[in-house]
Amino acid sequence: MLIFVSIDNAVLICYNYTVNTVSLSRSDRDAWRIDVYSKVYVEITNVCNMSCSFCHGHSRETRRMSADEFSRVLDALEGQTKFIYYHLMGEPLTHPRLPDFVRLASDRGFKSIITTNGTLLARRGRELIDAGVHKVSISLHSFEDGDDASFERYMSEVSDFADEASRAGVIVVLRLWNRGFDGGRNDKTWELLRSRFDGEWAENTRGIRIRDKLHLEWGDRFEWPDMSADDQGSEVFCYGLRDHFGILCDGSVVPCCMDSDGVITLGNVFDQPLSEILDSPRARAMVDGFEHREASEELCRRCGYARRFI
Ligand code: SF4
Ligand code: SF4
Repeated sequence: MLIFVSIDNAVLICYNYTVNTVSLSRSDRDAWRIDVYSKVYVEITNVCNMSCSFCHGHSRETRRMSADEFSRVLDALEGQTKFIYYHLMGEPLTHPRLPDFVRLASDRGFKSIITTNGTLLARRGRELIDAGVHKVSISLHSFEDGDDASFERYMSEVSDFADEASRAGVIVVLRLWNRGFDGGRNDKTWELLRSRFDGEWAENTRGIRIRDKLHLEWGDRFEWPDMSADDQGSEVFCYGLRDHFGILCDGSVVPCCMDSDGVITLGNVFDQPLSEILDSPRARAMVDGFEHREASEELCRRCGYARRFI
């Protein structure tokens, strides 16, 4: 977890902080003016232009955050984090104001990280680079349907963006989070990337460094939390509300990026102070529970994602 210590809004120290071995209370952090969370997920829209087989989807009303609402979110996040991840559900590149949001966030000292399925990068990628996006993660595993020709076109467009963005200083991560469920396409993906980006690829714990600012990352497919899934017991550990939390596009505050339906809505950032929401008895019960590897919420007992941390 990255911690920034600041005095009068100037960042003085940035260091890695391991939540398992160092523990600072909220009041310590407030007193030191340390950003409390390593990231916050902000869903600027819950509309998507794809329908991936592995996606949980949501049953909420479709919505886009307005510029005024996004500005209010930034107000609330002041001092909470430096890193905004524009994703919970939905495809952020379908939001027409995305580049404006990235600029707005950047002007306020936040770094913008976009997770995208990549299908709109050919059309809108340049806008993101120009707006000053910090990092773009492209979920290559989301391209499941379509014939080989459309897949090759998709890969060519994504590679063009990855090349241009990484040369411009943007971190680009090409994700294949589908180990064991790739339908045979990962080999082709590898082949296409290898022919496009030559040079020495360096393996690391998360995947491969293709070159400076450009990475390929592997991951396992996981089961989304769902209230209709089997109860897997109360022994759960999760970094939700300790390392990060999420804000849905209607302002609902949720503990993680997995609560696609807002089952654990802790409050609404458009109606009440964020500090009040994050210090609420329900939020505190979650944090205290995870501290002892206990789930206080029914949804967490049914979360396949959190199982990887036990
Ligand atoms: S691109 Fe993301 S939000 Fe859209 S359907 Fe696929 S997994 Fe769901
Ligand atoms: S256990 Fe799952 S549902 Fe609960 S906060 Fe963590 S990621 Fe979210």
